Amino acid sequence: MEEFDLIIIGSGSGGSATANRAAERGAKVAVIEAGVLAGTCVNRGCVPKKLTWYASRVAEAIHRFGPGYGFDTDKVSFDYHKFLESRDGYVGRSRASYGRNFEKNGVYYIEGYAQLLGQGQVQVGEKTYQAKYIVLATGSRPSELEVPGHELLDNSDDFFKWTDLPQSVAVVGAGYIAVELSQALHGLGVETHLVVRHDRPLRTFDKMVTDELVEMMAKNGPELHPYTNFDAYKQTESGQIECYQDGKLILTVDRVIQAIGRRPNTENLGLEQTSIKLDDKGFIEVDENHQTGEENVFALGDVIHRPQLTPVAIKAGRSLAEYLFNDGPSGAMDYTNIPTVVFSHPTIGMIGLTEDQAKKEFGTENIKVYTNRFFSMYASGGLDREACHFKLVCQGPDETVVGLHAIGEGVDEMIQGFGVAMKMKATKADFDSVVAIHPTGAEEFVTMR
Ligand code: NDP
Repeated sequence: MEEFDLIIIGSGSGGSATANRAAERGAKVAVIEAGVLAGTCVNRGCVPKKLTWYASRVAEAIHRFGPGYGFDTDKVSFDYHKFLESRDGYVGRSRASYGRNFEKNGVYYIEGYAQLLGQGQVQVGEKTYQAKYIVLATGSRPSELEVPGHELLDNSDDFFKWTDLPQSVAVVGAGYIAVELSQALHGLGVETHLVVRHDRPLRTFDKMVTDELVEMMAKNGPELHPYTNFDAYKQTESGQIECYQDGKLILTVDRVIQAIGRRPNTENLGLEQTSIKLDDKGFIEVDENHQTGEENVFALGDVIHRPQLTPVAIKAGRSLAEYLFNDGPSGAMDYTNIPTVVFSHPTIGMIGLTEDQAKKEFGTENIKVYTNRFFSMYASGGLDREACHFKLVCQGPDETVVGLHAIGEGVDEMIQGFGVAMKMKATKADFDSVVAIHPTGAEEFVTMR
């Protein structure tokens, strides 16, 4: 039986980061993958999504702002097939780089479905492997609702396999994926409907940001359908999809994408042969070191109940590898103040607590909030208007910045550095002590009054 110091199940962002770091520290490592090398982010998540967002940014620059900047944009056309060639070429190169990193670091790559046998043993097909440590990094997949006609619906995985753009789409859901896909499709000229069951999308974000997003959608699209909960779908003779609520036809569109969250991949992993437990939502339970209920078996990334973000999985994996193979202090990572961005038009960014969360945690009297609303110079130069709205949530007499929220042009590339400041417990006075870079949007964060 072949033996390893570490076997990782899943070659996505978290699994690969753990593998490479452990191998760099001298461990003999194998990664077992049942699907495509490199997992969700590279193949059907962040990477193709960001390229689609870029394509819709280009369209926006041409059609919305181009004429104002003096460009004649009447004859510009868009070839989705050409874009797919570029997008999928990039994805293929990213995937190949994962393989090269494994080779460079001497990580063994095993294709097949892995099952735990207990006692550090893992079975793949006919073969059994032995490991000192095992990491489960099997990720997640789109959740689905079993309503009548659900087989007509697509999810985000399906979207990345589309070979043509439809004329009309309904995107059902209210999180990152629903917002990003609906905005990108709208930007590429598809008639797009964003269907949410409450009043707005992104309800866990600061209300200032989502108020602004909803207002922008009312002005520019896609069309928002609040308080809408489709409970049945039917196909028409021409192949369109009718969307119903309480027996009433609400929308007829070419395609429907359901993006209502993601569920962890824990099936058929042999967990019953171990003491690994799942929580009430089906995620693998871990302690702060990412240790499961089974000795020497760890889990990280989307399969545990933590923020489902690529850099979170990567950081957790590297911390764990340092802990296991380089005398690192622990396998824990700090899950506070994680900067995050939604690639809408314009982008949304947040770090730390929303205003409501901060008031709840520290008491309203201990929170001071600074906001600034202004119009993007980029949009104004294109003879359009697009608001940017920024907020700092400050706590205590020192006004420590515990929340940073923004919607507007360039926010996606703006907030990473503020994440460093917030990790260092920067105060409002620290922000104000920095000289502004002019003219930028970011300068508003250091000049708020
Ligand atoms: P999210 O968890 O972000 O949001 C799903 C939302 O859909 C829920 O919050 C809920 O909002 C709504 N919803 C849930 N059930 C239903 C239902 N039955 N009918 C209608 N709406 C429903 O999930 P996503 O699938 O968008 O994304 C999964 C995760 O992937 C994200 O949480 C994020 O961590 C990650 N991701 C990150 C990205 C980034 O960093 N830019 C991009 C894409 C994904 P409500 O209660 O308001 O209805």
